[in-house]
Amino acid sequence: MRYLSHILAGFSLGFHHRRELRHLLDSTALNSCILKLEPDELKSSGVTVLALDFDGVLAPHGASVPLPEAVEWMKRCEAVFSGDRVFILSNKPTDGRRQWFAENFPAMRFVSGVRKKPYPDGLKKVGELAGVPPSSIMMVDDRLLTGCLAALVAGAIPCYIRRPYICFSSRPFAELFFWKLRIMERLFVRLVSLF
Ligand SMILES: [Mg+2]
Repeated sequence: MRYLSHILAGFSLGFHHRRELRHLLDSTALNSCILKLEPDELKSSGVTVLALDFDGVLAPHGASVPLPEAVEWMKRCEAVFSGDRVFILSNKPTDGRRQWFAENFPAMRFVSGVRKKPYPDGLKKVGELAGVPPSSIMMVDDRLLTGCLAALVAGAIPCYIRRPYICFSSRPFAELFFWKLRIMERLFVRLVSLF
């Protein structure tokens, strides 16, 4: 039941924010990924806090640790923003991931115990923990109707990752499911933005 209401929230909030989602979709390069994001430039543009999704953004779906290139990128983020200004906001904050971050980026915090994206609760908590307004938090996410939508609902800055990390060989069914889901949500956004 909770799962169903979560999906319905995606559609209803998505419809409400359809024009912003469409603008985000149209203005995002097809090859956008974290490696295209320069921490220095983000900071100069007014971003003070980063909220990072995990699946698709830091690693392929279901992985327990980020990819080496994502680790290098997070090191640069840590140097520019400081680790306590970087949060992991995943709908799957597993123990394995927490453990890895505790060992490798101890200052970075996992946000959990909140309603899942697209609800804005996680980003509101990030704002409270960091002591900054939502308007200076950037949510980096590969899903339009979860993370990007949560950012719009919360009044934060959405950063859409259009080319997520995918590994069909390690989790073919899950990756295929999310691959289709990403296509469907882009279709949904294009469709409802006509109204
Ligand atoms: Mg994701």
